[in-house]
Amino acid sequence: MDAAKIDIAKIDVAKIKSRALSLAEEMTRLRRHFHENPELPWQEMETSRLIASKLEELGLNPQIGVGDQPVGVVADLAGNASGPCVALRADIDAFAITEETDVPYKSCKPGVMHACGHDGHITMLLAAAKLLSEMKDQLPGRVRFIFQPAEEHGYRSGAQAMINDGVLEGVSSIAGMHLWSDIPSGKAQWRAGPTMASADGWKVVFKGKGGHGAAPHVAIDPTLAAAAFIFAVQTLVSRETNPLETVVVSVGKLESGRASNVIPELAEMVGTVRTFNRAVRDGIEERFQRMAEGVGATYRCKAETRYEGLYPYPVVNDAALTRLFRDTAVRVVGEENLGEAPLRMSSEDFSFYQAEIPGCFFFVGSGNEAKGCAAPHHSPHFNIDDDSLPTGVALLTSFACAMLGSKKGEIEG
Ligand SMILES: [Zn+2]
Ligand SMILES: [Zn+2]
Repeated sequence: MDAAKIDIAKIDVAKIKSRALSLAEEMTRLRRHFHENPELPWQEMETSRLIASKLEELGLNPQIGVGDQPVGVVADLAGNASGPCVALRADIDAFAITEETDVPYKSCKPGVMHACGHDGHITMLLAAAKLLSEMKDQLPGRVRFIFQPAEEHGYRSGAQAMINDGVLEGVSSIAGMHLWSDIPSGKAQWRAGPTMASADGWKVVFKGKGGHGAAPHVAIDPTLAAAAFIFAVQTLVSRETNPLETVVVSVGKLESGRASNVIPELAEMVGTVRTFNRAVRDGIEERFQRMAEGVGATYRCKAETRYEGLYPYPVVNDAALTRLFRDTAVRVVGEENLGEAPLRMSSEDFSFYQAEIPGCFFFVGSGNEAKGCAAPHHSPHFNIDDDSLPTGVALLTSFACAMLGSKKGEIEG
């Protein structure tokens, strides 16, 4: 490898792949350990300690903690030249769901499970740190490893907290990835531009006047307003946003009343809004409020609304960086195993990093029907094919090398 500038044709992909494969057994053991010991968002203390100790074994100097929380780990690997600093990010949290698989390394904590594959993400980034450390004399710059807490939290994004802590200072580009169960193990996907949606959360409470179910005329029925609102809010999508834009408005929960013969005082709803376009997203909030108040007034109810950006930015992959990823990945997995990802309405707080610097978020297949690894993400039956780990490690490692050789603006095309 050229120490001054890495030409991606010169990255020794074959060697990276064979080193990644040689770590397969060790990675499987480690991944299963993380799986068995999941921790909720902002509670990843043990996970962070173990990550830090593995990084120390590589001779790195990891820092634990973000803000005043003792979770999350960052470590820098300095190469042999003062070139750019590029970052690789993995999320490390599990979330509140009870595992229903019967694997021997099933979660030891009822109600907490790695049901999104973040146990695999941690393991792969640690292995990539190992491979890159072995190559450090040939790296023309610095690689920052970001082990981020609380991707699943929603209201308190771990990514935003890490950015506030300065994790992107001096970083020219960032890569992240997600294992994906509907992509077969061994395959990978890229996508340029908008890739995953933004996610907002909303709540509407209609306040009426309780009364007897047999005398609705002396009560004010908030359930009626809620029913009308459920229909009306869909016209935000069909009548008020450009039909060429993708928007989803969903009601996730409706609560109103407890007895068959009582008109309740309140009807409460919560839901989500997803879209790929920041400008579209910004227009929804005001419309949403107007509609809730209007519908409420029509049925004599007061409407209280709360509208919150959970992941207010969509995941938007930098075009040049994604081209670089594609050109690198084709050498790692082969043309036949590399495809363009479909747009996904699910969300990722990797978008916060991309709002600051160019980033590329890609997908690595972890699905394997024969091994029982085909359940969707966030299912209590979710599991990943451990044989997908070396593929992810080879991709992360090769792409870090490629990014070091191609700062934003230097990439052809
Ligand atoms: Zn998830
Ligand atoms: Zn996830």
